Amino acid sequence: MKCAACRLRTARCFGWFDPRRKTGAPRWVCSMRCMHALRRRWGVIDPDEHEIAAIQAASPMAGEYLESIGKTDLAVLSDAEWLTLLEVIVTAYQDALAQRLDSGSHPAPPLPGRAA
Ligand SMILES: [Zn+2]
Repeated sequence: MKCAACRLRTARCFGWFDPRRKTGAPRWVCSMRCMHALRRRWGVIDPDEHEIAAIQAASPMAGEYLESIGKTDLAVLSDAEWLTLLEVIVTAYQDALAQRLDSGSHPAPPLPGRAA
């Protein structure tokens, strides 16, 4: 089942319903972020600074992979090469995002019940 907010990732254990509507069926989402997006009725939210930086960090990895196989025209990639390219990009993105978030370079969310 696809996430009801981003419609990209698999919905997980996050269910949301609009309390103003009389429906018993929750809309399933992939993350708290997408749950908040539904709550705000924004649909897909824009990437934050960490996600943008992670995308930028993944770009050279994609270039390195393409150089390693000697191809720059994506139309000539085999199915396996295309899937490997996607894996390289996704892995580099996730690694860069995790590194940024684990390094403490992001502000920690305020604790519930305490002033920020
Ligand atoms: Zn989502």
